[in-house]
Amino acid sequence: MFDRSFDRRQVLTGIVAGTAAMTTLFPDVAEAAAMKPDDASALLVIDVQNCFLPGGSLAVKDGEQVVPVINRIAKGFANVVMTQDWHTPGHISFASSHSGKKPFETVDLPYGKQVLWPDHCVQGTDGAALSKDLAIPQAGLVIRKGFHKDVDSYSAFTEADGKTTTGLAAYLKARKVKRLFVAGLATDFCVAWTALDARKAGFETYVVEDACRGIDNQGSMAKAWADMAKAGVKRIQSSDIAV
Ligand SMILES: [Zn+2]
Repeated sequence: MFDRSFDRRQVLTGIVAGTAAMTTLFPDVAEAAAMKPDDASALLVIDVQNCFLPGGSLAVKDGEQVVPVINRIAKGFANVVMTQDWHTPGHISFASSHSGKKPFETVDLPYGKQVLWPDHCVQGTDGAALSKDLAIPQAGLVIRKGFHKDVDSYSAFTEADGKTTTGLAAYLKARKVKRLFVAGLATDFCVAWTALDARKAGFETYVVEDACRGIDNQGSMAKAWADMAKAGVKRIQSSDIAV
């Protein structure tokens, strides 16, 4: 009798473990059919600007590869918002604004630790322009960010001081958007910070991994994905979106 019940328990354990393994191996299979963007969905195209593309002052490796992917998935979205990093000359995020500092070093500012960058995306310059290869004529809004000289803004929602809003969450809510798909540059900074703030604002949030490229400064890619997973951001591929 003891032996028989033991066997049954083993079988049951095996079935449960098998089910768990399937869910772990194919977490997105069940959701794949639900990925048709609707009127409550919006695509956020983050910082696909010349400075972040090959030849730019802060070029993200393989950054140009996001453009055809974004153009393809954008066809499925009625709601598209693009962002532009849009700094003053001498912006606080530029290494050149801090004597003795080099790009990719950090400084402590009143709002926290700031990575210092090469000068980039200065207002009105060619480097700050959106890529001419983007083909998203239906985009309804371009949000500019980082235009306060003493505060950076990786996020499309909230500046790096953690309190100054860009107004994007209110705009999206006024348009009854509930679900956000985030793509662009760079995965570990402006994309990740935007996705994290999107979750804070209550949006269902997906980051389209193959429609993003990262910088990966001192482990920032791994940290960004870990932070996003913890916040409930879903990591998907462009093939998960029906267009
Ligand atoms: Zn910037």
